[in-house]
Amino acid sequence: MAETKVVYSICGMCAVRCPIMVEVEDGKVTWISGNPHDAGIGTGLCAKGVAGRSVLYDTERPLSPMIREGERGSGKWRTVSWDEALDYVAEKLREIIDNYGGRAILLSDRGGPFVEIRKAFMQALGSPNYCNHDVTCGISVNHAAMSLFGFGRTGFSYDYKNAKHVVLYGRNMLESIKVKTARAMIDGLAKGAKITYIDPRFSVTASKAHRWWQIRPGTDYALNLALIHILIKEGLYDKAFVSRWVEGFEYLANFVKPYTPEWAEKETGIPAQEMYLFCQEVAKDAPHVIFHGGWMRARYRQAFYEARTTYILNVLLGAIEVPGGLVFVKGPGDAGKKGLNKIGVNLPKVEEKRADGAGWKYPHIKTPLLHRALEAIKTGDPYPIKAYFVHRHDPLLGLPDPEAQIEIYKNLDLLVVCDINWSETSWWADVILPECTYLERSDIIATQKGLKPGFRRRKAAISPMYNTRPGWWIYIQLAKRLGKGEHFPYETIEDIWQAQLEGTGVSIEDFEAKGSVTLVDKPIWFDRENGLPFKTPSGKIEIVSQKWEEAGYPSLKEYESPEAPPEGRFRLLFGRVAYQTHGMWMNNPALHPYLKENILWINKDVAAKMGLKTGDLAEVANGSYRKKIRVFATELIHPEAVFMLHGFGHTVPYQSRAYQKGVADQRLEVGLLDVFDPAGGASALCECFVEVKPAS
Ligand code: SF4
Repeated sequence: MAETKVVYSICGMCAVRCPIMVEVEDGKVTWISGNPHDAGIGTGLCAKGVAGRSVLYDTERPLSPMIREGERGSGKWRTVSWDEALDYVAEKLREIIDNYGGRAILLSDRGGPFVEIRKAFMQALGSPNYCNHDVTCGISVNHAAMSLFGFGRTGFSYDYKNAKHVVLYGRNMLESIKVKTARAMIDGLAKGAKITYIDPRFSVTASKAHRWWQIRPGTDYALNLALIHILIKEGLYDKAFVSRWVEGFEYLANFVKPYTPEWAEKETGIPAQEMYLFCQEVAKDAPHVIFHGGWMRARYRQAFYEARTTYILNVLLGAIEVPGGLVFVKGPGDAGKKGLNKIGVNLPKVEEKRADGAGWKYPHIKTPLLHRALEAIKTGDPYPIKAYFVHRHDPLLGLPDPEAQIEIYKNLDLLVVCDINWSETSWWADVILPECTYLERSDIIATQKGLKPGFRRRKAAISPMYNTRPGWWIYIQLAKRLGKGEHFPYETIEDIWQAQLEGTGVSIEDFEAKGSVTLVDKPIWFDRENGLPFKTPSGKIEIVSQKWEEAGYPSLKEYESPEAPPEGRFRLLFGRVAYQTHGMWMNNPALHPYLKENILWINKDVAAKMGLKTGDLAEVANGSYRKKIRVFATELIHPEAVFMLHGFGHTVPYQSRAYQKGVADQRLEVGLLDVFDPAGGASALCECFVEVKPAS
């Protein structure tokens, strides 16, 4: 009789990390669904989540450790044992530490709830240079939130289920999916909520919206200034909330005076009359409204101000700590409980300044600046970086201008990639340390913040297939080889869990029944009159941020109109679909057949003038990168822009399905590695124009 079991774990197909239930029969994963014990998700998952099984049984992934033999990028490696690979890396690291110090080591990953082991590893080595992928994601939104509230963007969740009006600036939530969020939004729509969707391009989310504003690319800030202008001038804001919780309202009111809707109409293309109507609507629905601060706003140089004014719109409507608005997330401390213990024993404090300048050269920036860390590799300023660990992260796919990045890698003595996939970056690595997939590995316990805080756990459903290992094991083995084992007295993942849970009142066994542990029975709401814990110096929402002003960045910046594209060129926009994660699963055998290549959206009238129609081949180019791509001519994209899905044009031949399929948008972003939003830190990935012409 078949031996069956059910394992509650956490999905690893994208950075959302939904709770899952994995069914296993005779040591094989047979089905993956949502974890039915989690009311927000039920058994539903997105297409990628369901396809997780095919990652497991796909052999087009690194199956064993490898050490490079030929030139970087030549694809010549030899397969080695784990001992040989780890000894090799440890020896190289020891040389680098002896010559340049621990600070010469950089590590980047995707961030998320399981990073602590890698941060502890870096700390043990004496390096301050841990980076996540946020420069190409939400870093400017994060800093916008910090400047107003004193905490980052994850300090609030959004209550879509009870909202009456949700306003989304390119937050394509039904294609760039978080399953719980999408379900909550659909529930909200069923209850009568409205969506206003603002994007130069139509999307699946736009198709569910009550209003789609086809805004001119790069003008969100102009729109926000005009909306704030209306709300204040017409007295549509929540005066009681503003007077209780906002510092600097007069400054705001004066600043937006010149930014009239009639002025903004010329910038954005959105009729002023519609802006007035919209403001009446949201004021009527307040405080149950959500202006989404933005998820991935790493697009324009003024992203910080776009996000900051978006948050301010929520504040003006009093949409804070109310059902249907922005809700403070609560941690174990808010439930009167002890949080998880830190991983690592007696880890030394790292006094070194960060190589990327965060916190000193850029005193207002709190989180890592990977693009500046790459600059440090290039220049050796403020000090040399000689080793780069890339963990489950693909800078050559996610950051702009891979050609420029590869040039920078020439300054490294060691490039190590630890991944479950053949990433674009792995092709240039000196050593590949293959991690096992999320279905084959357990991870550290993570804190789950929210209205009902708790802890959750990823647990291996099956043993590792092939010669792969979990990340926590890899870093602890390296630490031990470098004489830092005293900080990591763990042999098994259970040892780590035990140390994390010590004194919390929660045991490892408590996770068995549902995969997570909730610390309270009822949701925690803060007292809106007297108990909102803003972390700013004044304890209120600060329209004028001293920190940013002192760093030389005004709290609100004079608006700058985006440059119009030259003749024959277009602003390159990019985005996602529901069955891909950036580009990570382009080679997935289950997902690849649904989308083999990307296409180029171009405005229909513009295309007609160029002699192009849907289905024709166009040539798209920037710098030396020039590729052919099929055209989709449509009125659903702004005339100044073209659009393509991100993540195509893979260059690793071992990925037979995705190899050289489609156009790589990041290779068209020539010169953008050094272009970023100085106030918020994000890369400005849409600050580039590409040439488009009919293919010859
Ligand atoms: S959104 Fe989809 S891929 Fe991402 S964690 Fe959830 S189920 Fe997995």
